[in-house]
Amino acid sequence: MNAPASPDSPASASPCAASPYLMHTYARRPVSFSRGLGARLWDTQGVEYLDAISGVAVTNLGHAHPEIAAAIADQAGQLLHTSNLFRIEWQERLGQRLCALSGMKRAFFCNSGAEANEAALKLARLHAHARGVAQPQVLVMENSFHGRTLATLAATGNPAVQRGFEPLMPGFVRAPYDDIAAVRELAERTPGIVALLVEPVQGEGGVHAASAAYLRALRQLCDERDWLLMIDEVQTGMGRTGAWFGYQHAGIAPDVVTLAKGLGNGFPIGACLARGRAAGLFSPGQHASTFGGNPLACRVGCTVLDVMERERTPERAAALGQRLLAGLRETLHGHPDVVAIRGLGLMAGIELNRRCGELVGRALDEQRLLITVTRDSTVRLLPPLICDEGQIDDIVARVARLLVPRAAVSGGGRAGGPDPRPPS
Ligand SMILES: *Cc1c(COP(=O)(O)O)cnc(C)c1O
Repeated sequence: MNAPASPDSPASASPCAASPYLMHTYARRPVSFSRGLGARLWDTQGVEYLDAISGVAVTNLGHAHPEIAAAIADQAGQLLHTSNLFRIEWQERLGQRLCALSGMKRAFFCNSGAEANEAALKLARLHAHARGVAQPQVLVMENSFHGRTLATLAATGNPAVQRGFEPLMPGFVRAPYDDIAAVRELAERTPGIVALLVEPVQGEGGVHAASAAYLRALRQLCDERDWLLMIDEVQTGMGRTGAWFGYQHAGIAPDVVTLAKGLGNGFPIGACLARGRAAGLFSPGQHASTFGGNPLACRVGCTVLDVMERERTPERAAALGQRLLAGLRETLHGHPDVVAIRGLGLMAGIELNRRCGELVGRALDEQRLLITVTRDSTVRLLPPLICDEGQIDDIVARVARLLVPRAAVSGGGRAGGPDPRPPS
């Protein structure tokens, strides 16, 4: 077992296991998991953990879901891949079902969130050229996250993601998030805007939800100006916010919707959905993906939908999300370090008054809890949507113990519950 990080050591000095054979794209924790079940994980030493991040909003139906595992095994024994040179029944079925759930008309399948957004951005370019706009701009938001490819990192509103990769792809203008006046003002003075790309809740950006009024006003502005309203649901989609898609809380119909993360419950798949003119913009030869929409990925997607429809997973996420937020607000009420507690559905953020990256390692070592920290100072929780109420309460209790002010711990161990560390 790895020694717990010293509580006082900065995150940069915490032990980070690194293979000499892997590029240094991640600062990894020195823990490896060998097994999971629902919201629980076991590391290679057999220690049990509670998963409050779901592989970053991916394994929404939990680990080792028996129905999904069976679908993968069965399809692997039949057919994995044929290419998009032929019709693919599972792809057609998944496209139809996603369109029915989202109000969209057509789907393009790919393998990740960034690729789904690339497809959306290419639709925006085609939309522009169909309108005779030679120098198109896509309006994106400050603090946003859309992926790591060259186009999507340029769309992303975080200099840390862009630094080192200049020159950035041109064709983006940026407005503050959840500020309709700023968007209207930008619209007045910027020629060539043809589309708007926005997250209903900024996840990587610190768990900030847009107001329903803002999303409705964006819809109206896009109608007035013939812009495509493109909603990045890569993280918020598939029930995460307590609705199938985050924009449904505002009762709007976007022109383009992008999906990935939860769609395959860990099997890689992404989708770009569109309706209206946007659904007919691509013609053969203009966009493609070798792997995208293969029989295995799409059967997994269909199985995820089977489970979610049968178990009413989005409704369950809404109820559990309320329980999580209420629990956090009650338990952390008056906490000296807590600046804000935000969330929608099972996306929750606890903003602290300090940089807190070191909490990720401490949560693992001391609380056996998987969390993430985003934007340096916000603890982010993305529990599986299939958690039971006891597990939600357990997450709240472990987070509360993690955030107990240091003085209170050394002053008598008032940690608000039993120490979950197994005897060593
Ligand atoms: C994770 C994420 C992406 C990128 O998805 P990848 O599968 O990592 O390419 C894009 N947009 C949002 C909102 C995300 O959360």
